[in-house]
Amino acid sequence: MGFKPHNFQPVCLGVPTIHIREKAAHDMWQIVDLSTQEVGWLGVVTRRADFDFVIEEILMMKQEVASTTTELTPDGIAEVTMKLIEEDSKEGIATSAPEFRANRLLFWGHSHVNMDTGASGQDDKQMEHFRQNGAEFFIRAIANKKGKIQFSVYYFPANLVLHDVEWEILSEDDESRREFWRTELKENVSQLSYKSSSVKTGGTTVKHPGNSWPYTGRRRKPYGGSFRG
Ligand SMILES: [Zn+2]
Repeated sequence: MGFKPHNFQPVCLGVPTIHIREKAAHDMWQIVDLSTQEVGWLGVVTRRADFDFVIEEILMMKQEVASTTTELTPDGIAEVTMKLIEEDSKEGIATSAPEFRANRLLFWGHSHVNMDTGASGQDDKQMEHFRQNGAEFFIRAIANKKGKIQFSVYYFPANLVLHDVEWEILSEDDESRREFWRTELKENVSQLSYKSSSVKTGGTTVKHPGNSWPYTGRRRKPYGGSFRG
């Protein structure tokens, strides 16, 4: 008697969320809404430190479409890549810098017009091309005019793909408020100095900074109760 395979149900922990910049989400929607064909697009992706992804911007490439197919050509991809290289080089961004967008052209999306967002055989074949490019990961989206967009994340070296990954729109307003509060906090909040704080051995008083209600001196009673060693 040995181990017998059971009804396996692998669990994938740490499944990422895809955060879409508001402008990128609008751009994708306009592309899908305005076209009656299976038009596609590319996108710049950031992989965050927490392993979530951010869809930063959407780029259009030359392509040949029909109502039920889309052809993503190497020329179309190369053209977008060149455009990014030129723009970022002009900005003085080093090709090895994380900001260099050509290295982050790791998102491909396309419309299924009015059809559902399941991948076709051709869509899966397309992913094989991206796999051969040696990327660590790649994101695919399939969208339709009904307002559905479905993301898949391919982790090529792990031979793993996650379908229908959760997404959310990253409100630019949230982001700008975040920057606002980052600045506000920096300007207004300073580290409490405990230089004036002293506990006299055997004494009955304890000095502490005046506005110090969060101060949690170990032996201080809440709300300024007198201190008895
Ligand atoms: Zn498709």
